[in-house]
Amino acid sequence: MLTGQCNCGGVKFEVSSETSPIFACHCSICRRYTGSGSIPVVIAPKQAFKWLQGEGLISNWIKPDADWQSWFCSTCGSALPGENDEAHMFIPAGSITEGGDKLTIAHHIWVGSKAPWDEIGDSGKQHKESYQA
Ligand SMILES: [Zn+2]
Ligand SMILES: [Zn+2]
Repeated sequence: MLTGQCNCGGVKFEVSSETSPIFACHCSICRRYTGSGSIPVVIAPKQAFKWLQGEGLISNWIKPDADWQSWFCSTCGSALPGENDEAHMFIPAGSITEGGDKLTIAHHIWVGSKAPWDEIGDSGKQHKESYQA
């Protein structure tokens, strides 16, 4: 069970199940999304995910030439959970408020296209491209 929110507090959510460990994506699209070297996310079943408030504040952008979408708060711009596939949500680990204490980074994906200054210093497994657990 975990809860999370955006920076302005307008959007809040909870996950009522276990999640995957953290996957950190280092691809150039996720880098622009976050302004950072990678985005750490956990995956949870859709049926265990619930918006608690602010659903109307959520914007999303679908990249036309790629299987990629960004979800964000239209007030404060914080990255928000989004649809990973038909049955799963991805949750940006940085948006988790409570319940994330035991999470660790298990997988780094798209390491083959990471930024030159991005040095990976933890024990997460590194994958050149994508990886399905
Ligand atoms: Zn917000
Ligand atoms: Zn990515």
